[in-house]
Amino acid sequence: MTNLFDLTGKVAVVTGANTGIGQAIALALAQAGADLACVGRTPAEDTVGRAQQLGRRAEVLSADLSTIEPVQRVIDETLEKLGRLDILVNNAGIIRRADAVDFTEADWDAVIDTNLKSVFFLCQAAGRHMIGQGAGKIINIASMLTFQGGIRVPSYTASKSGVGGITKLLANEWAAKGVQVNAIAPGYIATNNTTALQADEVRNKAIMDRIPAGRWGDPGDLGGAAVFLASAASDYVTGHILAVDGGWLAR
Ligand code: NAP
Repeated sequence: MTNLFDLTGKVAVVTGANTGIGQAIALALAQAGADLACVGRTPAEDTVGRAQQLGRRAEVLSADLSTIEPVQRVIDETLEKLGRLDILVNNAGIIRRADAVDFTEADWDAVIDTNLKSVFFLCQAAGRHMIGQGAGKIINIASMLTFQGGIRVPSYTASKSGVGGITKLLANEWAAKGVQVNAIAPGYIATNNTTALQADEVRNKAIMDRIPAGRWGDPGDLGGAAVFLASAASDYVTGHILAVDGGWLAR
């Protein structure tokens, strides 16, 4: 039987691939056989080096995704340097915390521009290419706050709820064209993004008490879901938001 999860010969673009969830997903895809375009504002040299050690082709692509200015270049450079584009993982994201009554326009715009606007236009640029070739896999990184309200993170909640919405919209438009669009909703994962929460004793305890698995997630916990959604194993899965949360939402 052919390996449904094999990504040999596929090319994946992963944004924010230098650290945390993006790095873990990039390396899981490389382990499954994919070559990588590692996109971000901090060069993903470590990720590229580790992918090359696995025998993959891997390139660093510099791009600040706080605006959509570099979006088309990211897709063009991927095609120039790696020759194809099969998988897009929209992982780069930021968070700003403040009480809703004090929340600033700057913190609203920064998060929406990076987490939602750039994600949509990267989907669009990659999608045009994927529709042309009749195949492609897009994986957006959502959040528990795609489903829940959260607290003190209004622009983040709006952005990740929006990511859920555009994932389903694009799935509807592109399903018959061979392009599957899904999202992964990580639970509470120990990365730079959650350092403040991990350090806050009261919030940390409240979070831990609610996670049925009894631990924070590790970025590596997202690898299996990403390989599944990037591979032929998920060819009839589209518009789905897959929670990888240690049971958080089931609680
Ligand atoms: P992280 O360690 O802070 O990584 C965020 C990544 O996004 C970094 O590579 C960062 O690059 C990149 N990035 C941020 N702004 C960018 C910009 N303007 N241009 C290009 N790249 C940019 O956080 P993480 O936890 O791995 O987060 C990855 C994704 O998972 C995010 O979308 C986040 O919202 C989501 N998520 C995380 C959790 C969690 O519990 N950790 C839960 C749900 C969802 P730099 O290193 O240069 O800043």
